Amino acid sequence: MAKYATEVHSSYDMPHTIEKKKPVGTLVEGRRETPVIREADVIVVGGGPGGVAAAVSAARGGAKTVLVERYGHLGGMATGGLVNIIPNLASIYGEQLIGGFCQEFIDRVSARGAASFPAREHWGKGDPAEVGKYQKANMTHFYIRKNPDGELVVLYTAVIDPEVAKDELNNMVLESGAELFLHTWVTEPIMDGNAVKGVIAESKSGRQAFSGKVVIDCSGDGDLIPYTGAATDEYMKPGSRIAQFGWIYWICNVNLAEYDAFAQTEPDNFKAASAAIVEKGGSAAFSRGLLEHQDDVVWVFNLIGSLHQTDVEEMTHIDVTTRKQAVRNWELLKAHMPGFERSFIMLSCPQLGTSGGRRIVGEYYLTEKDMDTDTPFEDTVAVFADNDRGEASLKHPRTYIPYRSLVPKGVDGLLVACRAFSSDYEFQEFFNLIPHCMCFGQAAGAAAALAVKSGVDLRDVEYAALRAELVKNGAILPIIGIATEGSLHIRSRRRNS
Ligand SMILES: Cc1cc2nc3c(=O)[nH]c(=O)nc-3n(C[C@H](O)[C@H](O)[C@H](O)COP(=O)(O)OP(=O)(O)OC[C@H]3O[C@@H](n4cnc5c(N)ncnc54)[C@H](O)[C@@H]3O)c2cc1C
Repeated sequence: MAKYATEVHSSYDMPHTIEKKKPVGTLVEGRRETPVIREADVIVVGGGPGGVAAAVSAARGGAKTVLVERYGHLGGMATGGLVNIIPNLASIYGEQLIGGFCQEFIDRVSARGAASFPAREHWGKGDPAEVGKYQKANMTHFYIRKNPDGELVVLYTAVIDPEVAKDELNNMVLESGAELFLHTWVTEPIMDGNAVKGVIAESKSGRQAFSGKVVIDCSGDGDLIPYTGAATDEYMKPGSRIAQFGWIYWICNVNLAEYDAFAQTEPDNFKAASAAIVEKGGSAAFSRGLLEHQDDVVWVFNLIGSLHQTDVEEMTHIDVTTRKQAVRNWELLKAHMPGFERSFIMLSCPQLGTSGGRRIVGEYYLTEKDMDTDTPFEDTVAVFADNDRGEASLKHPRTYIPYRSLVPKGVDGLLVACRAFSSDYEFQEFFNLIPHCMCFGQAAGAAAALAVKSGVDLRDVEYAALRAELVKNGAILPIIGIATEGSLHIRSRRRNS
């Protein structure tokens, strides 16, 4: 086990260095014959927010599609990571910017009574009762912003029940006609020169190959990239949002009425109880479950700084240490905080939360300057609400995403439609969330299907046709070349980094 400069502490521990052990040697592997078990148009690697959207979009576009996921469920961080909050669907001004697959997914989960979000009339508005509800739940970060008048307003953010979401994502993938492989870990791409021709996977069934005309890497960390020769950028600013793991757990059977009464009627004792928990190495902070019937559930977001998010020894250390801390923290809450006496940890995240990881250097490389402009690209495939940059967000409420940021430089047959999209660490800080990755996935899936159908290289997909396909499937895109209501979108840009 690697040595760690610091022990893991809850909440924003500064990233530490790790002492990497040198390999004890190398093994030359013999020639192997691997069965090719599927021949598809499009292979999607990873069934997280990016992957499910990519698979559904490619299959709906007419491509024979296979989705390969390492775990036994879909949704990635949005389900298995217990990061079930889908934020920034509309701007601070209440203008919805994300539709398409993401909105369809929320609608479908909502129709089953398993999603919660503010009613449309509250988006961008400051109803004190609505604002208060999210403040009380300790969800200000996801739901409340200041508008230009300094008024606190509510954002369009949805929470989903992870279990219903897993079932609904299975439905969406299978209804689209895509074939699904769970419990199958993709280990490398099949390369022919600089072109990706499929993938190799390992599972209980052994080592198997899938051949495909297009591969879409939706593994979150860009697992295929190191084998393709494509350039990557892994820089993370120490202490930033993406430079951390998340280990999330839910405590249930909490009597929040008793907790609230204690906090209100005995503020000094409440302060003392919180201080005792902190003194013993715990934290009294939590968010309230926002789903219906979760009146007795609290969500604990344990964030741990790290610059080594694809290092398996680091991941092991974080998992072991953080699990110990979580249980200790709950024991402290139980011992010191009225309302927690009969509580228990109901669930801890099956998927360790990773925010950073590898990122491609694509045909377009998104940086901070792309957040500070109001002009869409001619290949704009998504528009994101810029809600997290204070004054700058009020000035530039929309951020445009070009298709080229999903296309790695120097590699053919490959798209990247997850948080490994082409961007620097500053752009990542704000735009690698669940709704964003769903948009990347929808765009990449549609582009892959178009490329296969028309027999063109992924770089030569006709932008107008791609954008039309996305709009047909609910995406909200600016009309390129025409001034749109309330906007300055007159010219498009085709800038390369
Ligand atoms: C602590 C924390 C809190 C966060 N909070 C929020 C939040 O509240 N709201 C929000 O929108 N975003 C949040 N995020 C960010 C968000 O979760 C991710 O950026 C988003 O889930 C990325 O989606 P993705 O599809 O790129 O990757 P992932 O969600 O990681 O999905 C990748 C999928 O690929 C699979 N996979 C990986 N490697 C392989 C392989 N080799 N073979 C086969 N399958 C593979 C994984 O099992 C997984 O299903 C948070 C992140 C962290 C770490």
